[in-house]
Amino acid sequence: MKTHVKALVVGGGAIGTSIAYHLARAGWQDVMLIERDELTAGSTWHSAGLLPYFNMSYATTHIHDYSIKFYKTLEEETGLNAGFSVVGNLRMAQTKARMDEYMVYATTAETCDVPYEWMTPAQIKERWPLVRTDDLEGAIYHPTDGYINPADVTIAMAKGARQRGVTIERKWQADAFTWTGDHWDVTLTRMVEKGGNLVPSDEQIVVSAEHVVTASGNHSQRIAQLLGIKMPAIPVEHQYIITEPDPELLKYREAGNIEHPVLRDADAKWYVREERGGWMLGPYEFNAPARFEYGCPDSFRADLFPLDLERIEEEYMSMIHRIPTTETAGLKADFNGPICYTPDGNPLMGPAPGLRNMWLAEGFSFGITAAGGAGKYLADLMVEGEAEIDMASLDPRRFGQDWMTTEYAARKNEEAYEHVYILHHPDEERPACRPLRTAPAYDRQKALGAQFGCVNGWERPNYYGPLDAPETFDHDARSFRRGGWWDYAKAEAEAIRSGVGLIDGSAFAKHRLTGPGATAFLDWFTCNKLPKVGRINLTYALTSHGTTRTEYTIVREGEEDYYLVSSGGLHAYDEDFLYKAIADKEAEFGRIKEEDVTTRWGVFAIAGPGSRDVLREIIKDVNPDTVLSNKRFPWLSVRNIELGMCPVKAIRVAYTGELGWELHHPIEMQNYLWDLLMMAGAKHGMKLVGARAQNWLRQEKSYRAFGHELGRDGTPLEADLPRFVDLSKDFHGKAALQETGVRSKCCTVLIDGPADADPWGREALYNGDARVGRLTSGGYSVTFGKSIGMGYVAPDLAVPGTKLQVKMFDQLWDAEVVEDSPYDPKNEAIRKDG
Ligand SMILES: Cc1cc2nc3c(=O)[nH]c(=O)nc-3n(C[C@H](O)[C@H](O)[C@H](O)COP(=O)(O)OP(=O)(O)OC[C@H]3O[C@@H](n4cnc5c(N)ncnc54)[C@H](O)[C@@H]3O)c2cc1C
Repeated sequence: MKTHVKALVVGGGAIGTSIAYHLARAGWQDVMLIERDELTAGSTWHSAGLLPYFNMSYATTHIHDYSIKFYKTLEEETGLNAGFSVVGNLRMAQTKARMDEYMVYATTAETCDVPYEWMTPAQIKERWPLVRTDDLEGAIYHPTDGYINPADVTIAMAKGARQRGVTIERKWQADAFTWTGDHWDVTLTRMVEKGGNLVPSDEQIVVSAEHVVTASGNHSQRIAQLLGIKMPAIPVEHQYIITEPDPELLKYREAGNIEHPVLRDADAKWYVREERGGWMLGPYEFNAPARFEYGCPDSFRADLFPLDLERIEEEYMSMIHRIPTTETAGLKADFNGPICYTPDGNPLMGPAPGLRNMWLAEGFSFGITAAGGAGKYLADLMVEGEAEIDMASLDPRRFGQDWMTTEYAARKNEEAYEHVYILHHPDEERPACRPLRTAPAYDRQKALGAQFGCVNGWERPNYYGPLDAPETFDHDARSFRRGGWWDYAKAEAEAIRSGVGLIDGSAFAKHRLTGPGATAFLDWFTCNKLPKVGRINLTYALTSHGTTRTEYTIVREGEEDYYLVSSGGLHAYDEDFLYKAIADKEAEFGRIKEEDVTTRWGVFAIAGPGSRDVLREIIKDVNPDTVLSNKRFPWLSVRNIELGMCPVKAIRVAYTGELGWELHHPIEMQNYLWDLLMMAGAKHGMKLVGARAQNWLRQEKSYRAFGHELGRDGTPLEADLPRFVDLSKDFHGKAALQETGVRSKCCTVLIDGPADADPWGREALYNGDARVGRLTSGGYSVTFGKSIGMGYVAPDLAVPGTKLQVKMFDQLWDAEVVEDSPYDPKNEAIRKDG
């Protein structure tokens, strides 16, 4: 057995096998895969093998799309037929809201080149007469997907991997990982059969690997413990049953009809497909429990849990309703196995937090569908340094290491399972494990009608609804069109444009960098000029490919003293990148002290033409009349001020594009400051404002948002932000940024859309018949009284005056590219003196 390899893949399920295959295909010569048992012995063997395209995420859709296309090529490459039945996939809708969901999905699918068709109930009935359609609104049909044999596709990938030089060793378990500084020493234990069990023997070996990938499926908690990290991948029970042959189905097929597509009745929470003359029913029922929270027992191999028929009774009955002939078909077989989940339902794919050359590929709930693409995109990350799509939404570091617990992960994973078939409203907020992370003003905000969203565990007001709102108000307000919250957000946005509003920004990530190396490091790490002392700058840290890795507001408080503000949602993801870069560069630049001060500072943003008047009421200064003037407190500067008895680091900046300040304050004084601001604000009609209105307002200023316009699939120049890129200095990623050029360009569009809906920022953009790009943000503009969005098109189309169309609800709506910052292009409101 080899003891030195370039990459060691731990786990021989569909995921690990695909990664090994793709690493070899990407050119790595020395790849070894180890499996504690037999290949496919984890969840892979008992998977139903469905390969559904349907997915609301851009990144995941790309992954699934790659898999479906790749699996079709495997037989030619390996000679093994993995049993890919391209029967298509019919997703039915019982309600108009469900059809809306499919239409929102469809425009995203188009941006990923996924083919689909619409079907009416009559068309469904005509093609598949066994399906009851009288209570359906319609369906979306994917003709190119279907199902595959999960074990066969894994074995085919294993064969392809071996053909490309990968070594596969079975019956070896990874039991310890030690990082030596330039490689991992991984202790493997030989596993032996004893009385039907698999047990560790005394035989051990140490393998040195430059890179390690873990794809351990249900064993992820054990791997997390061995690595000393938190990994919220915990399985949940998932069942499917197979019926005896259905005589009516047999007759239908004997008459020469082709196989039914995979049928999905999303409102009934199940999938059904044909299986040897009978039917396979897979429900996503409520109350499926999490398993193996604290580790999967060594003895659990290709095992199953007992069937819990009572739990899936409702779904069983609804299958009989939808396909009445199933009523007489008896139950033939059942499967209840562990299916890995994560709190948001997306897998964990990418670097392990805090560790070098350790890659995670865990928490896959659609692992057969994802395996091909997961292997390809993770191999791209490892070999090339980046993949062509932004992998942030799948990155393991999106979950904070400092606050996440096993209990949280288990309960959220149960919720993610339950939510597989809920209506996936883009304005959805999931309820489990909340509230958990709250700033002190939470109770006050709640009492004033705040309806909260959850950002990295933090509660943050999305909007302020009616004071006497029932508990279900926000849930009931959700829609694929303009939800019940829309009027509240509109009033909030208008208040900021015409008066003054107060926004809670406490969830921002905040770091302090000090020490003799801080300036040189940040100058290399970020692409904009560093601000002078007392000033602030917006800047970007880039990937080695020159694309945007992190957006920072850098506040320079001293020569070597920096306060960095970045996205709250991606706190741990950004922090890991920052800390690793510091560790790499400290020897070169000098000592740098980094501190995570996120939970030390609360943030309120006050914005609007009246914001100065409110602050003037409560600011303590020798001359309160001038302290907030342009002379003493210019735009893009920082001052330590006192509001009543609260010391505040005030930053003159406003994400809304109005006169405004961010008030960073000691978190323990937050309620004092809140009360003070509310009292002063009352005199000036100050309105409480949530994140939704803020999101609309920033689009009127063409302010790019991290995770939307800004990410690892584009450079800041492609985001059309040359003013934040100082090409006269050297910075990380500069050469790649210049080499990349501008492949597509960010622009702002005003849209004459439907009367009852705005884009969500995922829609396809058209120029006549040609699809030319996609939106990355969307919303409503109170200034222009119509929908607004930002997105990417070819540079020659990103020119003001270009007429485009946005696909929404299966129709094309006129849109026009406008100058950046259509509201107040000269920034007069922000700079207003007083
Ligand atoms: C009932 C059911 C139906 C499903 N249906 C579908 C479906 O229709 N479509 C779909 O896409 N997905 C489906 N899934 C999900 C799918 O099965 C999983 O997402 C997929 O199998 C995960 O693959 P994996 O490689 O991550 O994990 P696994 O298949 O569990 O593989 C992990 C492997 O790692 C090995 N291992 C663990 N620890 C170590 C160690 N320390 N050293 C060495 N080896 C180790 C294990 O023995 C195991 O073989 C279903 C799941 C269930 C339970």
